[in-house]
Amino acid sequence: MMTRKHTLLYMLGFCVLLLTSFSTKDANQRSRLRKIVIDAGHGGHDSGAPGKYSNEKDIALAISLKLEEMMKDQIPDIEVVLTRRTDVFDSPIEKAKIANQAKGDLFVCIHCNSADPIRHSEFVGYKTETYKKGHKKHTREVKQYHTYSSPNPAKGTETYIWGAHRNDLKELAMKENQSLYLDSTTAKSVEGFDVESPEKMNYINLKTRQYFDRSAYLALTIQQEFAKAGRINRDALQRQVGIWVLQAVAMPAVLVETGYISNPEEEDYLNSPTGQTEIAQSIINAIRRYRTSLDNKTISTDLNSAK
Ligand SMILES: [Zn+2]
Repeated sequence: MMTRKHTLLYMLGFCVLLLTSFSTKDANQRSRLRKIVIDAGHGGHDSGAPGKYSNEKDIALAISLKLEEMMKDQIPDIEVVLTRRTDVFDSPIEKAKIANQAKGDLFVCIHCNSADPIRHSEFVGYKTETYKKGHKKHTREVKQYHTYSSPNPAKGTETYIWGAHRNDLKELAMKENQSLYLDSTTAKSVEGFDVESPEKMNYINLKTRQYFDRSAYLALTIQQEFAKAGRINRDALQRQVGIWVLQAVAMPAVLVETGYISNPEEEDYLNSPTGQTEIAQSIINAIRRYRTSLDNKTISTDLNSAK
């Protein structure tokens, strides 16, 4: 027969067992994705691309705040850091600094796309013009055109990563911020290395390539999620210019063009709570898949197989 004292002891033992099993599980399964830095594009005097009634900077901020709120709700174990929460301007240098100081595991920039209006020219008829040649007056028929512009119909989403040919800049950022991505074991093995030593350079080079692959995988996954939500998928691309900040952060990084502010239909969508929620949800779904692949080490280095 079990005494009351025994029962209590058993219960205590069980609790201790439970606690230890939880803590070991926790230590073993600690995700590699714990902190995400979200960067709302533009801000302050830099309005970004203008729409008919709204500006890119405000849409980017609204989507970023929405993303933060929904991530806290759906994936609370991932910490979210925003580079700005109000209508302020920070240079890309400052934004990169914020991300590096926050020691993020991933950097996500939110922007809107824009395409120039299309110019049209229509022939409307002839106009008679007089002109002088010597002392004589002559007349001639001149073609008349009516010119006007209409909004560019371009629409859909694109996700960018830095161009592979700019990996040298990423390597520089990695070199300058190496304390951020070196875990304790690797830190030990590279400690005392000459910064320019081939071993260290190889390590940084390898890490840069790894971050490039991870960024490419996430970019493709975000685009897949947008397509699932019915958006037009304009693909994941390597941008050659204007992506300085993606190279300057010592972590995988993507830039999401959430839609065309120059397209009236998409401007409405980008400004609507429904649109903003849908965009944030697609990005969260992609981040979840990215984290699973990262933790299971199944991120492919072959970009085509990730499609
Ligand atoms: Zn932008």
